[in-house]
Amino acid sequence: MDHMKPAGFMGIVKALLANYRMVRVKPSLNLFLYHYLQKFKPIDLDGNLIIHSHLPPLNSKAYSRFVTEHLLRQSAGPSHAQIGLTNACPQNCLYCYNKNRRGQTMATAEILELIRRLKKMGVVWLGFTGGEPLLNKDIIEILESAGDDVTLKLFTTGCTLTKQLAADLRRAGLVYVSVSLDHWQERKHDEARRYPGAFQTALKAIEIFKGLGNVHLSVSSVLSRDMIRNGQVEEFLQFLIDLEVHEAWLSEAKPSVAAYWHKELVITEEERLKVCQLQDQYNQMGTITVNYLGHFEGREHFGCNAGHKMVYVDAFGELSPCVFTPMTFGNIREKSIETLFADMKRCFPSEGTCFINKNFELIHKYVRDDAIVSPEDSFALMREVQFEPRSRFFKLYYH
Ligand code: SF4
Repeated sequence: MDHMKPAGFMGIVKALLANYRMVRVKPSLNLFLYHYLQKFKPIDLDGNLIIHSHLPPLNSKAYSRFVTEHLLRQSAGPSHAQIGLTNACPQNCLYCYNKNRRGQTMATAEILELIRRLKKMGVVWLGFTGGEPLLNKDIIEILESAGDDVTLKLFTTGCTLTKQLAADLRRAGLVYVSVSLDHWQERKHDEARRYPGAFQTALKAIEIFKGLGNVHLSVSSVLSRDMIRNGQVEEFLQFLIDLEVHEAWLSEAKPSVAAYWHKELVITEEERLKVCQLQDQYNQMGTITVNYLGHFEGREHFGCNAGHKMVYVDAFGELSPCVFTPMTFGNIREKSIETLFADMKRCFPSEGTCFINKNFELIHKYVRDDAIVSPEDSFALMREVQFEPRSRFFKLYYH
């Protein structure tokens, strides 16, 4: 990790001041962000001032766009998007949220056009997922097309990664990468992925990215409810500290597919808060950044922005509120992404808690033939959803 050093709080203050437009942001939002940033020990990686990989580096063009387009202009578009670059994957996770998605895979030209439009709509953070996104042979061209005013993140199992490909990805503009690893025991990780060798593949990919030294490296992990209940998250974090990655990107297993449509597999609010507390403790120690989705997306921070500031376009062009929601609001080949998003957003006012954790039983009711919920049914379903109050950030944002 040659190119990394702690940024120090003054480094962050300087980066924020360099974003001089921040002074025009509502004082209440600035105060919120100030308190939020204090929960982290930012790092300077190759000149990028990084809080965690869910936000663009503070001194990046993408962050400046976030300030101008979202904090100041309150653009109606999304700030965060994920795109499925392929649905193909050699691994076969029990909890895979893409398993029941089908259709005709987007061509590279369609993906390039989609990226251009998403950026125009306001996207400043763009995640590439799959399937295994490295199986898309045009991945370098796709990353290069995005430009340097959007922050790019790759989610990968590590399958097919070589040193050359990793270096090419970095050169093409990759800032953040998350390698999937769900357990510190090889057998348990391979079992969850239903792929012998998954653990070793991930470790090899981690070593390759570490070797580059200038890409922000996290491990993305799906925590089972049992791990959270049995206090095993700490043991897992120690394993990640020993691996010397920058960040632990954590989420709990989401009830996105039939195997997880059981109340006893979905975490409780107390369990979410337990992981949030762990995050705050670890981040104050500063050995590794812990970035748990339930912390970022908790009601006390930014809440759930599925379909509001977050969108997912799967490998077939279907638009979903987020990667974990097995619903489509239409296909980008049939209507423009702008129209599809506007129609979907009318159903999603943003709220304090996770949409999928709260509504999976309702979604289950609408699923037919193991496919994701169709656009007609998605709109019908949304009429039954009761939304909770918005998160702390969005209450201030819209006040
Ligand atoms: S539904 Fe859950 S996982 Fe999806 S954006 Fe909302 S909080 Fe995040």
